[in-house]
Amino acid sequence: MRTLLAQMRDMLECRRVKPLLQPFLDGELGEDDAILVSRHVDACRRCGLAADTFRGIKAGLARLADEPDRETVQRLERFVDEFEDEV
Ligand SMILES: [Zn+2]
Repeated sequence: MRTLLAQMRDMLECRRVKPLLQPFLDGELGEDDAILVSRHVDACRRCGLAADTFRGIKAGLARLADEPDRETVQRLERFVDEFEDEV
């Protein structure tokens, strides 16, 4: 059984990793941060899911011409909002 301490540590790591997710997927992080994030995303279901969603949205955006449609942008904004509220 997971201890409360372990759960709290995971939560703290989520908080730390969360703002790094997008730069991580954009390839903008330094090596140390990138390792931290990729390890956490593998281990943490919630952040793994968030990373997948970010990836999906980014792939969708990349497919569009230079002007992303409003709906896609709103979907992305909504997702980021919800994700930030959650932790
Ligand atoms: Zn996490």
